[in-house]
Amino acid sequence: MLTFQSIQSDLLFDAQHIWHPYTSLTTPLPTYPVVSAAGTKLKLACGTELVDGMASWWSAIHGYNHPRLNQALADQASQMSHVMFGGISHPPAVHLARKLLAMAPEPLETVFFADSGSIAVEVAIKMALQFQASRGLPAKSKLLTIRQGYHGDTFAAMAVCDPVNGMHGLFQGVLPQHLFAPAPELTPNDEWDNSELDAMQQLLEQHANSIAAIILEPMVQGAGGMRFYHKNYLAGVRRLADEYDVLLIADEIATGFGRTGELFACNHAGISPDIMCVGKALTGGYMTLAATLATRHVATTISNGEAGVLMHGPTFMANPLACAVAYESLSLIEEGSWRADVARIEQQLINELAPCRAYNSVADVRVFGAIGVIEMVASVDVAKAQAFFVAQGVWIRPFGKLIYIMPPYICNQDDIKQLTTAMQAYCLLE
Ligand SMILES: *Cc1c(COP(=O)(O)O)cnc(C)c1O
Repeated sequence: MLTFQSIQSDLLFDAQHIWHPYTSLTTPLPTYPVVSAAGTKLKLACGTELVDGMASWWSAIHGYNHPRLNQALADQASQMSHVMFGGISHPPAVHLARKLLAMAPEPLETVFFADSGSIAVEVAIKMALQFQASRGLPAKSKLLTIRQGYHGDTFAAMAVCDPVNGMHGLFQGVLPQHLFAPAPELTPNDEWDNSELDAMQQLLEQHANSIAAIILEPMVQGAGGMRFYHKNYLAGVRRLADEYDVLLIADEIATGFGRTGELFACNHAGISPDIMCVGKALTGGYMTLAATLATRHVATTISNGEAGVLMHGPTFMANPLACAVAYESLSLIEEGSWRADVARIEQQLINELAPCRAYNSVADVRVFGAIGVIEMVASVDVAKAQAFFVAQGVWIRPFGKLIYIMPPYICNQDDIKQLTTAMQAYCLLE
């Protein structure tokens, strides 16, 4: 049973023994004890309910404790929770792969199931390197990316994160050196100017012989700065990748499955990548699962190469529980209400965050799909801001100068209003 005392003692143990994301163990930020979650709300141990503005880092798109996702998980658990994928196939993996490929941009025909987003990125990079080596171009071993990106926390992924806020300094000499173009400046609504692509083209002109692939987050740079860019930039990068004979890897881990108003962010520009990573919302936020999709051409080239195989195979590859719940989450997506929901949330965010633009504490307000961002002039005191938001009945976790939300698609008008009201109140307070 939860008593005030047991909760306090758990929190104390946690603070002394358990690492949380990007925190210190000696001076940890406060944590809030969540005991259950349903629909759009997280329930704290004290009974308070919070409207979740984060969808548990982009993932819980259908909300919590969803009856159909619960059922899918329970049904699969009664069949088998896990079995190795080496030499074994199982229905949850096949059914999920079929559905995923039917949704994904046309030429993507093959799936590698990974156990997290970072691993999906590792696999994508490995595919690109093996692809180039397999066609006799092993010198094409570098990656080209754009600044302000985020691709995960493992080493190969970290090496293509923004070199400044991605902490390359801390791991100097360990991380492979890649090529960085400036982050695109034009936002989705700006008038397009072709010179936006000049820097990318110059880097390709100079280094194409040593570049295996361009990797980027399409349309939305997430954890690297919550920046939105122009679809013509994405279309232009696709064109340049072909022109200079390098692969294009689209990291759709944050943007996939409707978040930006299209099923995949690549759809805004009408392009398809050679390799695509998905994760986060793939299981509707139930458990960890990601996937790396590739074209037939990439897959056969790798398979006909010297190694003859793709050199990767995690223990929990294609975990049946995760695949079954992902299948059901994609079924919910296929039913299509996400599109109206995301458009409705986008409009409400545009309307209700706009007044914040006038405040002295605010540098910028931007909205794209069901993503609302307030960039403050100064860094946000996370502990203070979180306490304020919890008192307002919302769960919002700022980072750097950014107060941002990407709520579950099932949030109703009142949920969104509660979130935007709290954001506005915080800006006024500063
Ligand atoms: C979150 C994220 C990742 C890493 O995924 P994990 O599951 O946290 O390893 C990679 N790329 C992007 C764009 C992400 O948002």
